[in-house]
Amino acid sequence: MQPESVLSRLALVGRTPLATLPTPLLPAPSLAAALRADVHISIKADAWTGLGLGGNKVRKLEYELDPARLDGVTDLVTAGGPHSNHCRVTAAAAARLGLGCTLVINGEPGDAGRGNALLHRLLGARIATVAERAARGAAMANEADRIAAAGGRALVVPVGASTPRGALAYVRAAAELREQVGNGDRVSGPTKSAAARGLSPGPAQSRGAAVWIFTSSSSGGTLAGLIAGCALMDWRAQLIGVSPDDPAGMVHGAATEIALAAAALLPHPPHGSHPGADELTRRIRNIAAATLVTDAFVGPGYGAPTRAAEEAIALFGARAGVILDPVYTGKAAAAMIAWVRERKVPPGAHVIFLHTGGHPALFR
Ligand SMILES: *Cc1c(COP(=O)(O)O)cnc(C)c1O
Repeated sequence: MQPESVLSRLALVGRTPLATLPTPLLPAPSLAAALRADVHISIKADAWTGLGLGGNKVRKLEYELDPARLDGVTDLVTAGGPHSNHCRVTAAAAARLGLGCTLVINGEPGDAGRGNALLHRLLGARIATVAERAARGAAMANEADRIAAAGGRALVVPVGASTPRGALAYVRAAAELREQVGNGDRVSGPTKSAAARGLSPGPAQSRGAAVWIFTSSSSGGTLAGLIAGCALMDWRAQLIGVSPDDPAGMVHGAATEIALAAAALLPHPPHGSHPGADELTRRIRNIAAATLVTDAFVGPGYGAPTRAAEEAIALFGARAGVILDPVYTGKAAAAMIAWVRERKVPPGAHVIFLHTGGHPALFR
């Protein structure tokens, strides 16, 4: 299936436009030169999806907030940590759509005037604090009841929007990326001028080069969408999920389940050549089995700094002009850098780093 047919099939699913799309695919030749001369590196800039400082949650909310599901809704309710990117973007979406927003936050931020904690308030969200993660579900239900008692209606958005519906956003992103990468024999726009300036991306541009896609993966929705998208297009890109917190097996299992459920949501269009449901399930299982998830870059724990992430942030900044965050993308980039240096990535490969956002964590 071609990227265009994936996009036309996705067009049959309800979506509320919130993101600035497509996000650019930025060639990073001097980053590649600093690591290894025989690979090409590009950065898929989903940090620049726009709304509320962007990131991967903007794409996911486009599908989670399907217009049909918003019918009669007055408020969005969701949950996360005191510096949750998902809470920030949900609050921004509510404000954009003229809805109220209640955030159930587990724990107090160190400084409520910094980072996402500041942005949650600037975006007009009502904050309900609970002591621990385990209390979030019940608290969200209570908030929805309170809103109903006042004559409103709440839509509860699951944590991280890592639902099958939310994952469809990364099916779309996979199609977008495939179009930008081409079939291995062309890369979008700026590469040409980079080549003209003598910053040739090198042998990785050769026809049919292997594509390796690195992404931060936590609740698994982003990786799930990429898996389902690659399955639909029969695209043999090597996917690598880098966990910022949970054990690799857990992330891998969640991504696989969400990918299967996301594919089941896709309606069958009247014409065109589309893989049947059984064929699609088979492909998703194959791609999931080939997908690598690592938890080797978590360090002491979620959000805790690591030397490798600090080096990755410095390298992306100085060699690509791209700013990473310390919680998610810094650790994912550390994995990419290590794999490129250790030659786990084959010569000639086109390595794509999916930048999922998270900038406010630099300022907390
Ligand atoms: C939420 C988030 C992720 C993880 O995405 P999942 O779909 O939950 O796996 C990665 N990076 C950033 C910056 C995020 O905010």
